[in-house]
Amino acid sequence: MSTRIRTTCTVCGSGLEAPAGRVLVDLPAAPDAGLPPQLLLHCPVCDHGSTTAISWAHAAYLLAGGAGCLTSPDVAAVRPVYPELPPSPDRPLTLDDLLELHEELEHGLLTR
Ligand SMILES: [Zn+2]
Repeated sequence: MSTRIRTTCTVCGSGLEAPAGRVLVDLPAAPDAGLPPQLLLHCPVCDHGSTTAISWAHAAYLLAGGAGCLTSPDVAAVRPVYPELPPSPDRPLTLDDLLELHEELEHGLLTR
């Protein structure tokens, strides 16, 4: 017997039932951030996607039953990292800033 999920569409309120293999579970990238997994399910009544927060235990149960899995990107991992603090637009350029800019123009940007 296959694992099935019963839930309510968050858009139109219709009762939904589907095998685990037809749903997606969105897992937060950082489990310790306090965000719960999300159940993603298409509603055939209103033709919208329904998203419902579920417990980690339910997520594990659905994944073991064949649900697809998405992992949200880790915001800290996709945020651009500056090698140093970006210069303040209020601060005038120093001689070191100008030297670094010319070095970057000659060897950094122009050779890429
Ligand atoms: Zn619906």
